[in-house]
Amino acid sequence: SKKIALITSGGDAPGMNAAIRAVTLQAEKYQYQVLGFIGGYNGLIDNHFITLDCHKVDDIIRKGGTILKSARCPEMLDNSGPKRVVETLESNNIDSLIVIGGDGSFKGCLAISELWQGNIIGIPGTIDNDINGTDQTIGFWTAVETALDSIDKIRDTANAFERIFIVEVMGRNCGFLAVESAIGSGAEHIVCKEIIEDEVQFIDNLLVNINKAIRNHRTDSYIIVMAENSLSFSAHELSKKIERYTGVDSKAAILGYIQRGGSPVAPDRVLATQLGVAAVEAIKANKSNIMVGMLNNTATETAFSATSYSNTYNQKIIRRLNQLNFNLD
Ligand code: ATP
Repeated sequence: SKKIALITSGGDAPGMNAAIRAVTLQAEKYQYQVLGFIGGYNGLIDNHFITLDCHKVDDIIRKGGTILKSARCPEMLDNSGPKRVVETLESNNIDSLIVIGGDGSFKGCLAISELWQGNIIGIPGTIDNDINGTDQTIGFWTAVETALDSIDKIRDTANAFERIFIVEVMGRNCGFLAVESAIGSGAEHIVCKEIIEDEVQFIDNLLVNINKAIRNHRTDSYIIVMAENSLSFSAHELSKKIERYTGVDSKAAILGYIQRGGSPVAPDRVLATQLGVAAVEAIKANKSNIMVGMLNNTATETAFSATSYSNTYNQKIIRRLNQLNFNLD
């Protein structure tokens, strides 16, 4: 029989609870024990855990956040963190570790793997969708849904006042959340790093295009969905630039943390369940140092070392926008 340590780490994401549930139930099937450590890597450093079973995970599939709590853990960045984690794993006779989190969390897994021989499996959980080796991360579709809900409401106000709105969504350094939110809300324009070669030129084109659209009365309002961190200046500053250039009232709305919360939508619950099961199966098959993911509806495994968000995503985003003839100039 096996003993599994489970944590949720990095930014919380809707669907993490569904993944905790799936891991626990699949583990019970094989009579594996699951210890849920509290607060990401901090719980592993402080030996703070609860024992998970079917009762503990009852009815959590629909809940946002994570019952195991999440946190950043700066101690993992120097040697003492991983060393203390391994002490906890060994003193509890744990042979496998499952980490639900982003690619930062997987770097933590790699640091632990240098000191520990157990099986380490990652499950991609972040609203940013900034992980290589899975089409979507757990939490992404819920965040898109939340953004759509907000953008729809902003559209009402934008229409009523014939205004330009810049809506900033999350994504860390990745444009997927902005792209799907822009497509789904019928936004007029998108701003994200992946489509910007030269910022000055990009902004010049943006101003010309907005001006043209407004002069031609193409729409009552103009919505630009912008990924956070995509420009060297803020969404508010962009709105000022646009207002100065077009003479039309422009406002910026930053959606922020509301995108991290909420009950997970169906695709996130289903993905979390598939990946939770896949993680336990990977342990059973004695795999290690891999993240489980779904690519083209097929369960896949990717080495931790290859999970970092990469430039190939630029092409993926540009292709996607081109296919839809979405404003790219
Ligand atoms: P998200 O992007 O959704 O916030 P993430 O997992 O990428 O998720 P990070 O804050 O980057 O979030 O990482 C979470 C934790 O993983 C960190 O607080 C730290 O404990 C650990 N970690 C991150 N990078 C490293 C690294 N290079 N080496 C060891 N541990 C790391």
